[in-house]
Amino acid sequence: MGRAEDEVVTLTSELIQIDSQNTGDLATTTGEAEAAAYVDAKLREVGYETEVIESGAPGRHNVFARLAGADPDRPALLVHGHLDVVPFDESEWSVHPLSGSVQDGYVWGRGAVDMKDMDAMILALARQFAAEGTVPPRDIVFAFLADEEAGGAYGSHWLAEHRPDLFEGCTEALGEVGGFSLTLGEDVRVYPVMTAEKSIAWMKLRVRSRPGHGSMVHDENAVTILAEAVARLGRHRFPLVLTESVQGFFDEITELTGIEFPTDSAAALDGAVAKLGGVARVVGATTRDTANPTMLQAGYKANVIPSVAEATVDCRVLPGRQEAFERELDELLGPDVEREWIRNLEAVETSFDGDLVDVMTRAVQEEDPRAHTLPYMMSGGTDAKAFVKLGMRCFGFAPLRLPPDLDFTALFHGIDERVPVDALTFGTRVLERILLRA
Ligand SMILES: [Zn+2]
Repeated sequence: MGRAEDEVVTLTSELIQIDSQNTGDLATTTGEAEAAAYVDAKLREVGYETEVIESGAPGRHNVFARLAGADPDRPALLVHGHLDVVPFDESEWSVHPLSGSVQDGYVWGRGAVDMKDMDAMILALARQFAAEGTVPPRDIVFAFLADEEAGGAYGSHWLAEHRPDLFEGCTEALGEVGGFSLTLGEDVRVYPVMTAEKSIAWMKLRVRSRPGHGSMVHDENAVTILAEAVARLGRHRFPLVLTESVQGFFDEITELTGIEFPTDSAAALDGAVAKLGGVARVVGATTRDTANPTMLQAGYKANVIPSVAEATVDCRVLPGRQEAFERELDELLGPDVEREWIRNLEAVETSFDGDLVDVMTRAVQEEDPRAHTLPYMMSGGTDAKAFVKLGMRCFGFAPLRLPPDLDFTALFHGIDERVPVDALTFGTRVLERILLRA
């Protein structure tokens, strides 16, 4: 049995070779069971009593293992990763996305950064701890989960609702998305710790009006009324609101680089954010709510004015903004448009402080003396949304020291997804330091 650092690359590669694409459709999402069986066998091999749980539908498998800590009175730490990946079109890739190929200093394939890399680090360390008889300061619950990429209805959310016992005693959680280095200026690296996520709120808009013949004069056309509302909403810019996480991110960057983030106008702030490079798109989206129309549906024949027209809008709302956001929506849409939430996973935020944050900061600085940690908010969502409901403080920190020129955020769900081999071994060392002190 090697040390975690020695087997993390092989584990990453082998996990990538298991096809666990999550299509969002139960009939075609079938690979998580094989990935879970792989993880389960690796844990059992070193003596864990694991539990494999099917979360709400056949084949949606999750693996849990608990490692007892030195102090049973301390609350437990949940360390979690998801085993599913987003689909791919292999014709666009320069290596096969399921190859797990190790070449040019990278491990290649779907899931290399989201998040079979972190799964492999967690698994490698869980194995090392058991093999060496390591006792961490407190209980660690290792969780490898299904269905994150489709929102976790058949994964984390199902488990939190139906099997809260699995998380007994857990007050903090460590998962994705954070910990990857961003290089600023000459040789300063920041490692963002995810402390917040916007909501994922999908909205259906509906206009019901008088149907009619397409050849007539008609002032109450549902398609026209809906289209006007959708256009107003799509062009609207919601106000700048900097929550604690985003303000903390900007403050730390200002201190390190001198870049100021003026908030007197959206244009000025966007201009400053653009200087951050690849991560600018994500950061920009965390300075305000967004509402992007994504689907339109109406009518069935060219000469019939339909009685109903519908649109779908992808809304992402900042922590604490839901009520104000809805008031703004109602003003924009006007009285003729009905709206309903077809999915609403709430925004979450925790503060950037406490022992676990200090441990993460120290661990990364011991492996990279030029490292700084800082809080950040993700514009998307993760399994953290489910664990917050169980009262946990959730952090995203999958440590990777990356080359300065790598556009890392573009690799998430991207073509030629890959992770540097030396980032994996670095991350394993950092994560080991965290888990041994957390
Ligand atoms: Zn992910």
